[in-house]
Amino acid sequence: MVIAIDGPAGAGKSTVARAVAQRLGFTYLDTGAMYRCVALAALERSAAPAQVAAALEISVGARVLLDGRDVSAAIRAPAVSEAASRAAADPAVRAAMVAEQRRLLASGDWVAEGRDIGTVVAPDAAVKVFLTADAGECARRRALELGADPGTVLAEQAIRDERDRSRAVAPLEPAPDAVALDTTRLSVEQVVARIAALARAARP
Ligand code: C5P
Repeated sequence: MVIAIDGPAGAGKSTVARAVAQRLGFTYLDTGAMYRCVALAALERSAAPAQVAAALEISVGARVLLDGRDVSAAIRAPAVSEAASRAAADPAVRAAMVAEQRRLLASGDWVAEGRDIGTVVAPDAAVKVFLTADAGECARRRALELGADPGTVLAEQAIRDERDRSRAVAPLEPAPDAVALDTTRLSVEQVVARIAALARAARP
């Protein structure tokens, strides 16, 4: 069974998806980390993301491994966030990532988080959730995680979200059958409980 959690940056996807996976005993898939790995490799090699994407060995378990190297911290740098959102607009990069994501999701129970899980990667997902939050709240949460200035994070997230929404391939948008959840005034526990209930209802 696949639970798809999509939404803009800072809406709480990672925290919520991890917690839902833990509660239900599912495996968590952070697809954003995969695009971040492509961006990091391209930056390091001064290569085009599409040139490196297909040949990379990416593992996004408890730690994120890029060709066997632990890049869990390196992929969170602001420069990599920016490069990842640019790389993610390239159809060749997306094709390589989506193929790997579908291969992983083909068996087992997953909570997959990203921008296009419910629309493109797993359109048959048993549960689809589109998380949103007030932009200022999104930035405040991410700034707290990064120890960064909320104003700077707000500006950076606005650029990335706009790029994600306006790209030609797999733009950030809710699947028609996704449940929309605004997390601005909800606790993590409330959001997790809601998604866990949707999953229980969807179990055959
Ligand atoms: O979720 P995260 O912020 O780590 O994702 C980094 C970037 O990767 C996003 O800004 C977005 O452009 C891209 N992404 C995507 N599709 C996904 C996951 C992430 O385009 N499924």
